[in-house]
Amino acid sequence: MKINVIKSVLDASDALASVNRGRMDAVGLTCINILSAPGSGKTTLLEKSLPMLPAGVRTAVLVGDLQTTRDAERLEHSAAQVVQINTGNGCHLSPSQIEKGLDALDLTAIDYLFIENIGNMVCPAAFDLGEHRRAVLLSVPEGDDKVAKYPTLFQKADVILLTKIDLAELLEYNFDRVYDDLSRINTAAPVLRLSMRTGEGLDAWLDWLIAQRPAKQ
Ligand code: MG
Ligand code: ZN
Repeated sequence: MKINVIKSVLDASDALASVNRGRMDAVGLTCINILSAPGSGKTTLLEKSLPMLPAGVRTAVLVGDLQTTRDAERLEHSAAQVVQINTGNGCHLSPSQIEKGLDALDLTAIDYLFIENIGNMVCPAAFDLGEHRRAVLLSVPEGDDKVAKYPTLFQKADVILLTKIDLAELLEYNFDRVYDDLSRINTAAPVLRLSMRTGEGLDAWLDWLIAQRPAKQ
């Protein structure tokens, strides 16, 4: 007898992710899945950078947390549409939660849909939600050894944001160690250094975002 439970669960998940992607492709929106540990600055990044996008760019956020609507409240003035997804004790967002999130949005009025995943460096990386791109944050206080310890998170990243760099000197952060570890697992993704306190790196992040939009036909 062949037992193949885990594979079939992931196949079903991937199939639903494809359905989600198809819905987003049909309206021409670009979806960015944002992943990191808790406290790396996912919400702050969105809060600060979305209002800096060119006028007329329409944004929406699906924000995942176990409990509370705190992040949705923080993002209320930064994006035109915000939906909070509470997972209870779920440690990652699933394609079926994104499907429900898409139902709650006016998809025809969105250019960029951001998914703020549950703060967790492990399992969110395993789940395709239907996104077009993945942005992974690593904040300086987390330590310069995390790329090697949590490689799967960084392997699938399309852009890597090193955040809270204003703390680098204080914490004697070794950027070379991070770049060296990345050189072994992901050489394609650009690595951007950001500080939300000083605004450093925000322009590079916005340039990257703008470059992800396919030309309108
Ligand atoms: Mg958050
Ligand atoms: Zn999980």
